[in-house]
Amino acid sequence: MYKLLCPDQVADSIGEIDIVSLADKGFKGVIIDLDNTIIPWAGSAMQPEIIQQLMHFRTQGFKMCLLSNNRPRRVQEIAASLGIPFVSKATKPLKRGFRQALELLKLPENQTVVIGDQLFTDVLGGNRLGMYTIWVMPLSTEEFIMTKAVRCLERIARAVLKINMDKSKDGR
Ligand SMILES: [Mg+2]
Repeated sequence: MYKLLCPDQVADSIGEIDIVSLADKGFKGVIIDLDNTIIPWAGSAMQPEIIQQLMHFRTQGFKMCLLSNNRPRRVQEIAASLGIPFVSKATKPLKRGFRQALELLKLPENQTVVIGDQLFTDVLGGNRLGMYTIWVMPLSTEEFIMTKAVRCLERIARAVLKINMDKSKDGR
């Protein structure tokens, strides 16, 4: 369980991720969470820096897919604005949604990165399939009441894990 909750990387935001180094590691796709990863929870406008970073992924040759537990309408709208595929009602951390996203990307687990703001859905789910996981800080402190409860657990986990970037799994 401990290893399954260790992200391979931690970043303050998606904008801080070094895309070139991911490309150098051989990654070709990214599965990206929606709420509080690229857009504030309940918000509908993406920050320009985030749009720019997503475009940077594209110019570096990455295929992208949104993976969200949120309802189809919201996810579809944002995916359409970015011109990328999506999986909604993904029931993360279950493997099903991650597998659907991999199918849409037509990529294997070991060439795909998972980026998300929640340890117990995004990171745990990605790790369960052996994918490279990047944990980002949430964009907004406003969120679903259950998520707020989970954040307390995340804070404890963060303190316990004392995450050592890039050394947390198999020395990657
Ligand atoms: Mg999220």
